[in-house]
Amino acid sequence: MRVTLFGTGYVGLVTGACLAEVGNQVCCVDIDAAKIARLNRGEIPIHEPGLEDMVRANRAAGRLNFTTDGRVGVAHGEILMIAVGTPPDEDGSADLSHVLAVARTIGRHLTDPALVVNKSTVPVGTTALVRETIAAELAARDVTIDFDVVSNPEFLKEGDAVKDCMRPDRIVIGADSAGAVELLKRLYAPFNRNHERIVTMDPRSAELTKYAANAMLATKISFMNEMANIAERVGADIEMVRRGIGSDPRIGHHFIYPGVGYGGSCFPKDVQALGRTAREHGYEPRILDAVEAVNRRQKDKLFELIAHHFGGRLSGRTIAVWGLAFKPNTDDMREAPSRALLQRLWEAGAKVRVYDPEAMDEARRIFGARADLALCDSAQAAVDGADALAVVTEWKAFWSPDFVALRERLREPVIFDGRNIYDPAQVEAAGLAYYGIGRGRSL
Ligand code: NAD
Repeated sequence: MRVTLFGTGYVGLVTGACLAEVGNQVCCVDIDAAKIARLNRGEIPIHEPGLEDMVRANRAAGRLNFTTDGRVGVAHGEILMIAVGTPPDEDGSADLSHVLAVARTIGRHLTDPALVVNKSTVPVGTTALVRETIAAELAARDVTIDFDVVSNPEFLKEGDAVKDCMRPDRIVIGADSAGAVELLKRLYAPFNRNHERIVTMDPRSAELTKYAANAMLATKISFMNEMANIAERVGADIEMVRRGIGSDPRIGHHFIYPGVGYGGSCFPKDVQALGRTAREHGYEPRILDAVEAVNRRQKDKLFELIAHHFGGRLSGRTIAVWGLAFKPNTDDMREAPSRALLQRLWEAGAKVRVYDPEAMDEARRIFGARADLALCDSAQAAVDGADALAVVTEWKAFWSPDFVALRERLREPVIFDGRNIYDPAQVEAAGLAYYGIGRGRSL
């Protein structure tokens, strides 16, 4: 099939590459000319395991093309997919300006019947709004062209995006017409072979499904962080509690890890946007408000442990930070807990030496050059000359350091483990002090 993706970010580029990989002719459109130029040179602007090879191979095979020209994209696709950003507006609601800009582009250039598929995370009612926007552009051109709009929210996870796209847990299609569902079923058939993953529903339910999924996951994280804060005060170890509750199949082991709060481009903005939608409809979303409040407080947790350890005197101290990305296997630092920690450390007069396996370019772009920030080439280099070590992202490469060597490199032998990846007894046996999240050491 001929498919056009609008937006070449984590969702658009991965979806485009995967659809090309299974034989479709894919055109990817982005308004970011620098990004398209890089993609046309064979460079991948984001880190996503498996993506680079797939993009290269499909470009070389002529199945994957990149352009900034919306007209070319509209002319190419019988299926037009919207995968642009929906960042939070100032009031927390989702900013639909990019989605509606694509709808206008489609309406302005459409010449043949097409199915418009919205993959961006959007508030309930946006499918109808996109339909109205396209119809208004067609009316302004005084033409009648058959088109349909469906909601097809995306559930891929950064870091596992290619795998999730090729083998999704489910494919949600919110459509009003059987024809649209049939066309999408054909498109997704290669990803839906061994058992049925397609769940069809009306567009409004599909739109809410995406928010409900992210809000549920964010709730699990905030719930566990709340338990961790209680565990710390009563002298319990949340890691024991986690294993104890996860073995109940009604709870499960997934997504119940305490830490330094959730970040990324989805959970913070989606919990906020859903809360906003609820309020607009006269409902006070008490759980969502609490999920957000707990998360905001949790992002300060590591800083508070560090400040506590140093008696509130951080001026002149240097803290090594391992991990900047909001989670492992991505370079994405949007809303990352590391940013909250760095900000608090800088405000307290401390310097930081940071290392992340993939997010160093992103850190350079976000922070620029500053005297209180050293961007280091390795985890070891970050620790050199530092007073203490804080682990913020649980990259596999950080799991088994040589603790004795760490003790020798650090001026003050102490580790602040924001992800509970170390065994406190092992760390302490190597002569380092240990702080985790919810592991018995109360503030
Ligand atoms: P992103 O910020 O990585 O990429 C968005 C891209 O859209 C950018 O390259 C931008 O230049 C481009 N763009 C903006 N306006 C455009 C226009 N008018 N025409 C063409 N391109 C345009 O975003 P993302 O992380 O891929 O997320 C896209 C959507 O998918 C969001 O709604 C997000 O909430 C949702 N989503 C994201 C993830 C994720 O893990 N990142 C997962 C599921 C759903």
